[in-house]
Amino acid sequence: MDLLDELQTRVLCGDGAIGTLLLEAGIPIEQCFEELCVSEPDRIEAIHQQYIAAGARIIKTNTFGGNAVRLERFGFENRSAEINRAAAQIAAKVARGKDVYVAGSVGPLGIDGEEAAARGIDRTEVFHEQISTLLDGGVDLIFFETFTDFTEMEIAWRAANKSGAALAICSFACAPDGRISSGMLLADAFEKLYELGAKIVGVNCMNGPHGMVQLLERLPAKDLFSVYPNAGQPKYYEGRFIYDTAPDYFARSARELVAEGARLIGGCCGTNPMHVAAIAAAIAELRPVLSKD
Ligand SMILES: [Zn+2]
Repeated sequence: MDLLDELQTRVLCGDGAIGTLLLEAGIPIEQCFEELCVSEPDRIEAIHQQYIAAGARIIKTNTFGGNAVRLERFGFENRSAEINRAAAQIAAKVARGKDVYVAGSVGPLGIDGEEAAARGIDRTEVFHEQISTLLDGGVDLIFFETFTDFTEMEIAWRAANKSGAALAICSFACAPDGRISSGMLLADAFEKLYELGAKIVGVNCMNGPHGMVQLLERLPAKDLFSVYPNAGQPKYYEGRFIYDTAPDYFARSARELVAEGARLIGGCCGTNPMHVAAIAAAIAELRPVLSKD
C-alpha cells in the first residue's frame, strides 16, 4: 500500500475533525485535547474508528497542537514525546489490518519567528521532536495542517526530512483571496514546496467547501491536492460555535473539488463522520482529473 501510487489513479477520502467530536462529547474547550491520547485513549480510538467506518482511508492523529511550544500553555511542554507516541500508537492500532493510512498531524507552533528567536526556541528542534516521536509510534506519513506562514512550513518540512519521514502532506490555511497570511500567493507557495521536494500540497480550514472550490479553480490540476474544508462558516450560538453545512452539500462540493483537481478530500473544523460518509460516497467512483483544459 503506497499513498503516492494510489493517488495517481484514485481519489481518496480523509477523516474529519477530532476537536468537534470531543466538544460534542462534553470535553471543555480549555482542556488539552492532545493529552487525551494518554489519559483517555479509548475516547480517541473510538473517534478514529468512527471515521474509518464512515469511509476515511487516511486518519490523522490527535496531535495538531502536540508540539512542545503549544503544550506549554497547559504545563505539558515536557510531555510532547509521550503524547505524540501515544497518539500514533492509538491510530496505528485502529488502522492495523485495514486499508487505512495513518498520518501524524502537525500544526504550527503558534508563535512567529521573532518570538521564537526572543525566547531562544529552535523551531526545527521543536518540530523534529514531535515528528520523530510520531514516526516512532508508527505513523505512515506526516500531515502539516493549518500552516499560514511559508517560512514556518519550510522549517517543518526540513524537520520532517531530518526525522526520516517518507512522505509529508503540506497543507495551508489560505484566505479566500488565494493568499496565505504572509501575503504569498498559494500557487507560489506550492511551487516552492515542490522545489523543496514536497509531493502532496493542499489547503485546509478557513473556508467551507465552496470557498475551497474557488481556491482550486485558480490552480492547475497537475499537482496532488489535498483539500479539507470546514463545515461552512461558524456561527456563535448560545456560547459555542455551530457549523451548519449539511453533509449532502459536502457531497456535491466534493465532486466539484475532484473536478478541480483534488485527490484527497476530508473535513476540517465542524465536520463529523456524517460529512466524511457523504464525501466517501460522492467520490467513490471518481477518477482523478489530470488536466482542466
Ligand atoms: Zn479547521
